[in-house]
Amino acid sequence: MIPNVLTIAGTDPTGGAGLQADLKTFSALGAYGMGAITAVVAQNTRGVRSFVVLEPDFVGAQIDAVFDDVRVDAVKVGMIANAAIARVVADRLRRHARCPVVVDPVMVAKSGDHLLLPDAVAALREELLPLAALITPNLPEAAVLLDCPPPQSLDDMHAMLAALSALGPQWVLLKGGHLRAPHSTDLLGGPDGVLELPAQRLATTRDHGTGCTLAAAVAALLPTTDTVSAVRRAKDYLNASLAAADQLDVGGGRGPVHH
Ligand code: PLP
Repeated sequence: MIPNVLTIAGTDPTGGAGLQADLKTFSALGAYGMGAITAVVAQNTRGVRSFVVLEPDFVGAQIDAVFDDVRVDAVKVGMIANAAIARVVADRLRRHARCPVVVDPVMVAKSGDHLLLPDAVAALREELLPLAALITPNLPEAAVLLDCPPPQSLDDMHAMLAALSALGPQWVLLKGGHLRAPHSTDLLGGPDGVLELPAQRLATTRDHGTGCTLAAAVAALLPTTDTVSAVRRAKDYLNASLAAADQLDVGGGRGPVHH
């Protein structure tokens, strides 16, 4: 049976990040992709120009429409933009979702543009993280969620991982790429303990949408495999997509990965 996977996310009209990247990832990994939009973003590979956040009730209506009709096998939550959207998404997931939910706590695009209003951090932390089978913060996002300085070492990352787990998700993938170290390591913590996963450092500027792609890949794989295998395969998929980005000629900024 082909898994039905829903993303709840913002858009990228150039197709590199957000909902469009999620849908491409779902297809590439053999899932049937569905998408409910939280915010429509005017952006390209050079940056975010502006965005319009949809009415929270209308975001809820999209999610209801999916669950009232379709068996949903996994959900990925990306850009939630503001506190009201975070609360509506959490409410609908509590009501409907009987499947793994992957929450990517999207805050700032690689271009430096903010995609989450400051009032949303508490709602994201308190309403959405406890519902998650897995959360996938990078180090700056983890620091904002925990209201602490960014980690300086792998030991700091381990302490952060424990603090993030205490916020209620079943599993935490703490992405270590922002640490100033020759090798980058991701940490995956869950009921079975903590795994250190070496992360490939690639010298590329074609990395737009990598966070979205990784979280979407895990969501596509979770219906058919355990969390550790899903994360390992999702990282392999992201590395292959990064390696294939050279085949694309899309935009003059941080180009997208190739799915
Ligand atoms: N646009 C949207 C709608 C997103 O959800 C994200 C996700 O992180 C981004 C842009 C940022 O992509 P990146 O930081 O990889 O450029």
